[in-house]
Amino acid sequence: MAQLVADIGGRPGIDCRGFCEYCYFRHAREVPAFGCRYCSPFRKGCDYCSRSVGERYTGFRSLSDIGEDILARLQVLQGEISRVTISGGGDPSCYPRFTDLVELLGSMEAPLHIGYTSGKGFGDPKVASFLIDQGLTEVSFTVFAADPLLRKKYMHDPHPKVSLRVLEELCGAVDVYAAAVIIPGINDGVVLEKTCAWLEDRGAKGLIIMRFANSVEQGLILGNAPLFPHVSVHRVEEFRDLVSDLASRYALRITGTPLWDPAIGSPFAILQEPDLLDKLPRITGDTRVLTGTVAAPFLRRIITLCGGSADQVVTAGKEIACLITADDLAAMDPEVFTPAVVIPGRAFVYEREAAEIISRDGVERRIIRGPEVLTADGETSMGMTRNQVLELEMEGLAELIRAINRGAE
Ligand code: SF4
Repeated sequence: MAQLVADIGGRPGIDCRGFCEYCYFRHAREVPAFGCRYCSPFRKGCDYCSRSVGERYTGFRSLSDIGEDILARLQVLQGEISRVTISGGGDPSCYPRFTDLVELLGSMEAPLHIGYTSGKGFGDPKVASFLIDQGLTEVSFTVFAADPLLRKKYMHDPHPKVSLRVLEELCGAVDVYAAAVIIPGINDGVVLEKTCAWLEDRGAKGLIIMRFANSVEQGLILGNAPLFPHVSVHRVEEFRDLVSDLASRYALRITGTPLWDPAIGSPFAILQEPDLLDKLPRITGDTRVLTGTVAAPFLRRIITLCGGSADQVVTAGKEIACLITADDLAAMDPEVFTPAVVIPGRAFVYEREAAEIISRDGVERRIIRGPEVLTADGETSMGMTRNQVLELEMEGLAELIRAINRGAE
């Protein structure tokens, strides 16, 4: 069974009726390419780390381009299409020929998913029944708050009552995963409780709450921090408790990102599975592992349980490992590193440059890029079973341990 993605292109903020106040890309500057896992060994900067990260697309793609793309993929795909997903940098609800696009994809008679929409482009509540008729089965929909005035103010939604009406109707008919970036003092507290109750009432499948990032350490790496100068964000533990509390009170699945998923026990659900931990390879070397401050305590426990030591895990200035850049390495004392260092698979660093930075005290050290993922955050685990998360963790951690052991050879 094959899956098909219809990439509509588009630019965040520009192709979604203006930037939401909290958008990760708001005020993003042109920053030099970071370097990443996709760069060639001869050149720092590839399409991914120079263009896709900043979602620097040129605008929505034309319907004919999208159609041709789909036709080309259909020719190489084998077997039945299990789902068609609409995705892109811009918001599908704002796609100028949205109805034609949906009719085109609906004609394939495969379950239709909308990977992400804010709903800001929906100007008529009838769009909900149209989508249902065309085979929509799943949508991820930014709710922000069930209060139309807050949607208007913070998302710049021109028709907040209409988009909430569409969301409401979809909740009753298809799998709706709502999402909300939580800004303390704006859509948390009573507002968030009302949003949860509203979604529960309407039959949403889940709600993914995202901790707001407001500083470079929290992940705003595009030269655009802070987004809200006077807002201090939830501490990680505080956020985790908020997710647990809401999940225990409302009858819909609630997960958080960067953590946590109370139903699965992730990230690092494997910590509750001693038998699986026993099956991981044993650590035979003292190679240091670089990670973010959110993952570090979990990784320290896992590494200790697999025969290594907690000191092997060192943290850079970022909370999220995937957003570590060369600047974070430059701010660290090179002496914390061993002759080889395992960095996060998705870290935005160019390996040759990273090796130079961590060897700047005259001691030669090398970089080993670790696995892409070690666990699932709440956004990812929302669509997974516990076993799928555990399988992903087993694979990622086994690869990490092999990299640690290789570093000591
Ligand atoms: S809809 Fe999403 S991508 Fe568009 S401005 Fe809002 S947060 Fe950014």
